[in-house]
Amino acid sequence: MTGFDTRAIHAGQEPDPLTGAVVPPIYQVSTYAQDGVGGLRGGYEYSRSGNPTRTALEECLAALEAPGVLGAAGLAFASGLAAEDTVIRTVCRPGDHAVIPNDAYGGTYRLFSKVAGPWGVDHTPADVTDPTAVAAAIVPGRTKLVWIETPTNPLLNIADIAALAGVAHAAGALLVVDSTFASPYLQQPIALGADIVVHSTTKYLGGHSDVIGGALVATDAALVERLRFHQNAMGAIAGPFDSWLVLRGIKTLGVRMDRHCANARAIVDVLINHPSVVQVMWPGLAMHPGHEVAKRQMRDFGGMISFRVNGGEQHAVDVCGRTKVFTLGESLGGVESLIEHPGRMTHASAAGSPLEVPSDLIRLSVGIETLEDLAADLQQALA
Ligand SMILES: *Cc1c(COP(=O)(O)O)cnc(C)c1O
Repeated sequence: MTGFDTRAIHAGQEPDPLTGAVVPPIYQVSTYAQDGVGGLRGGYEYSRSGNPTRTALEECLAALEAPGVLGAAGLAFASGLAAEDTVIRTVCRPGDHAVIPNDAYGGTYRLFSKVAGPWGVDHTPADVTDPTAVAAAIVPGRTKLVWIETPTNPLLNIADIAALAGVAHAAGALLVVDSTFASPYLQQPIALGADIVVHSTTKYLGGHSDVIGGALVATDAALVERLRFHQNAMGAIAGPFDSWLVLRGIKTLGVRMDRHCANARAIVDVLINHPSVVQVMWPGLAMHPGHEVAKRQMRDFGGMISFRVNGGEQHAVDVCGRTKVFTLGESLGGVESLIEHPGRMTHASAAGSPLEVPSDLIRLSVGIETLEDLAADLQQALA
C-alpha cells in the first residue's frame, strides 16, 4: 500500500497506453465507436454511463478514501448536491426516514426539507455530536439513513464517526458521512465504519475555486451497483473537463491541506486574543467539545474557522465587508482565503428553522496565502 500523496498523484492515472501522456487526457466525447454491435474497445459506450477521464477520477477517489478495500468504488457527480440526491434516491423509498445534523450544510437541509420531503422521505434533525441524541431520533423500521457531517458547517462541531456507525447499523440504517470539510487527507470515514462518504469536490478536492463537483465512495458491492445504476439513470454525472480539474486539484491535496491547517492554527491564535471576538470554533482548540474525538479520527484540524464577534449581526457584517485579502464570498476549500456571514449568505435558507445559525457568526476558509498577510488583514478588519 503506497502513501496518501503517491495515491493522490498516481491512482487511476497510469500513463495513457496509446501516447504515454502522464496526465489522463480530457476525453471530451459523448460516444464511442463499436467494432460490430456490442464490440466495445475500452468498455465505454456512452459518456453518461462512463468516460475515461471520469473513471480516472473515480478510481483515484476510491484509492484515497478506502485504500486497499476490496470493491471500493468512487462515483463522480456534477455537484455535491447531485451526489447527495443520488444517495437519497438510491437508499430511500417514499415512507422512509433520515436523521440529519441539526447544523447541516444549508443545501443539504434544503434538499431534505424541500425535495426529499415532498417525495415522501421525512427527516429529523439531531445533535450529531451526541450519539444518544442520534439514536433517539431514529424511527425504528423507517430510518434508512443516518446522515452526518464532520466537522459540521458552519459551527465546526465534531461527530464521532465510529460511534455513530454503531448507532446506525444497530437500527439497520446506513451511515453517510459528508466529509467535505476534512477531505480524504484529514479523515477517512470508511475505515471508521461509514457506508458512504460524500464530498463536494468543489471544495478542498478541487481546491482552486474553479469547478463544481461531487463524489461518493462506497465499498459494499450491492450498494455500489445500485449507486452506479442511479448515477447513470438520474444522469447527474461529472463531465470530462470538470473531472480533469478535480483530478488536477487532488494531486496537491496533501501539501495544500498541510498549509491550510497550519495557517488556520495561527489565525485561531490571532482571533482568540482579540478583544472583539467572543468565541472561536475550531476543533484544534483543546477547549473545543469535540477536540478529543477530532484528535482520534482526523490527521489535523482543517482550514475552516468560525467565530462570533461582539456588537451583534451588524458588526459581523461590517467585518466581512472590510477584509481585503480574505475575499467576501460563499464556498470554501480553495487556495484563496474566503470570509462570509453564514446567517445572511450560505445559511440564509435555514433562517427560522432548527438549523438557524447565530447572527454574529463569521466563517473563514483559511487559504494558503502568506500567513502574515492573512493575520494583518483580519486585524485591520476587526479593529
Ligand atoms: C458545498 C457543500 C455541499 C454541496 O456541494 P455543491 O458542490 O455545492 O453542490 C455539501 N456539503 C458540504 C459540507 C458543503 O460544504
